Amino acid sequence: MVIGGGIAGPVTALALRRAGIEATVYEAYEGNADGVGGTMAIAPNGLDALDAVGAGELVAGLGQPITRTRVTDGAGRPIMGFDHLADLPPSRALWRDRLYRALHDHAAARGVPIVPGKRLVATAEDDGAVTATFADGGTARADILVGADGIHSTVRGLIDPAAPGPDRVPLLNLCGLSEYAPPNAHPTTTYFAFGRRGFLGYWVQPDGRTAWFANVPFADPVLAEKLRATTSGEWLTRLRGIYADDVPGRELMARGDPATVACLGWVDIMPRVPHWSRGRMVLVGDSVHAPSPSSGQGASLAAESGVQLARCLRDLPDVPAAFAAYEGMRRGRVEKVAARASKTNNSKTVGPAAITMMRLVMPLMSRLFMTPEKTIGFEHRHRIDFDAPVEAPALARAAR
Ligand SMILES: Cc1cc2nc3c(=O)[nH]c(=O)nc-3n(C[C@H](O)[C@H](O)[C@H](O)COP(=O)(O)OP(=O)(O)OC[C@H]3O[C@@H](n4cnc5c(N)ncnc54)[C@H](O)[C@@H]3O)c2cc1C
Repeated sequence: MVIGGGIAGPVTALALRRAGIEATVYEAYEGNADGVGGTMAIAPNGLDALDAVGAGELVAGLGQPITRTRVTDGAGRPIMGFDHLADLPPSRALWRDRLYRALHDHAAARGVPIVPGKRLVATAEDDGAVTATFADGGTARADILVGADGIHSTVRGLIDPAAPGPDRVPLLNLCGLSEYAPPNAHPTTTYFAFGRRGFLGYWVQPDGRTAWFANVPFADPVLAEKLRATTSGEWLTRLRGIYADDVPGRELMARGDPATVACLGWVDIMPRVPHWSRGRMVLVGDSVHAPSPSSGQGASLAAESGVQLARCLRDLPDVPAAFAAYEGMRRGRVEKVAARASKTNNSKTVGPAAITMMRLVMPLMSRLFMTPEKTIGFEHRHRIDFDAPVEAPALARAAR
C-alpha cells in the first residue's frame, strides 16, 4: 500500500504495477486538488522517470517548455544566465493541480486504485505484513507500506520517532498570475530576480499572462494566524509594496490578478533523514528528500524515487535487501541536489550589498566555473533503465 496520493504516490503505485506488484494508494483528502498549490517544474530527469510509468509525454504536454534561465537584480540588470542542455528535452513549467489531476487520471486508467479520505494514523507489523489504521477507524493490510505522504509525513515518524521534521527557511512562498508580460521576456525562459526586498521568479505563459512565484523574507512566529486571516487581495497589496522599486516586479504586481494569488506558506526543506525504512515500511518523495523549491527538483526526484523503489522490490528477494538497495541508489543523489538548492535559498535572503556583489562577481564565476553541464548536468542527465536488473548491495548480501 502507498500512503499519500500527491505526486510520488501515484507514480510509485504505477511503477510497482509495472514491476508486477499490486498497489493501492490511500490519500488523506477527499478533494481533487483543483486550485491547490502553485507553479512547479518537471526537469528532464523527472520526465524520464515519468516515462517509466507511461506518463512522460502526458506531463510534458501539460507544461510549458523552458530552455533558458536568466538571473537579474531588482533593476532588471543581468547577473548570470545559462541555456539548458540542448541534447535533453526541455524542462516543463506547470501548475501543480494539473499535474496532480493528470497523474490521478493516468493511474485510474491503468487500474491503480486511489482511495480518498484515508488519513493514516498508525501502523502495526506482524509476520509478513503491515497493517495501517486510518483516522476514520478503517484498516488496510499489505506486504509493504510506502510512505509517500509529503514533507509533513506521518510514516517518517512511525519508522523513526526521532526522525527530524522539516527545516523552516524564513521565506514566505507566494504565487499567482499577472496580466503584464515584460516586453523583452522570452517565452521559453524562466527569470529569477533578486529584488531589493524579495526574490521573484517568473515566466510568460502561452496565453500572454505571466506566472510568478515570490519568496519574501518573513520570520513572524505568529504567521499561522496571520495566514488564515490574510486574503489574496491583501497579499497582493503587500507584494506591491515589497516589489515597488523593482523592474519588472513592480509592473507584474501592479497588474497581478488578485483571484490567482496564493500563499503556500513558509519554504520548508527536509534535512538528512537517518532512517529511510524500518521493517516493512519505507519512504519516497518529499517525506524523505524535499529539497528547496529553488531546486525545481522536488517532483522530479519524487518520481525517480518511486520508480527506483519499484525496481528494487521487483528484483531483490527480500524486503531488507530491496530497501537497502533503494536507499543506496538514492541517498547520495538526493542529498547532493538538496545541498545545491540550499545554496540558492541562502542567496535569497541576502541584502542589497550582497546582490550588488553577486552582479559583479557572478558573470565571471559563471564563465569560469558554472557551465550548464556543471550547474544542472548532474540533475538533468539522470536516466532510469527500468528493465535493467538491480543488484543486491554488498552489505545486504553479506547479511543473508
Ligand atoms: C497542497 C500542496 C501544494 C503544493 N504546492 C507546490 C507548489 O506550488 N510548487 C512546488 O514546487 N511544490 C508544491 N508542492 C510540493 C510538491 O508537490 C512536492 O514537492 C513534490 O511533488 C513531491 O511530491 P510528494 O508526493 O512526495 O508530496 P506531496 O505532493 O506533498 O503529496 C503528499 C500527499 O500525501 C497526503 N498525505 C499527507 N499525510 C497523509 C496521511 N497521514 N495519510 C494519507 N495521506 C497523507 C497529502 O494530502 C498529499 O496529497 C505542494 C504540495 C502540496 C501537498
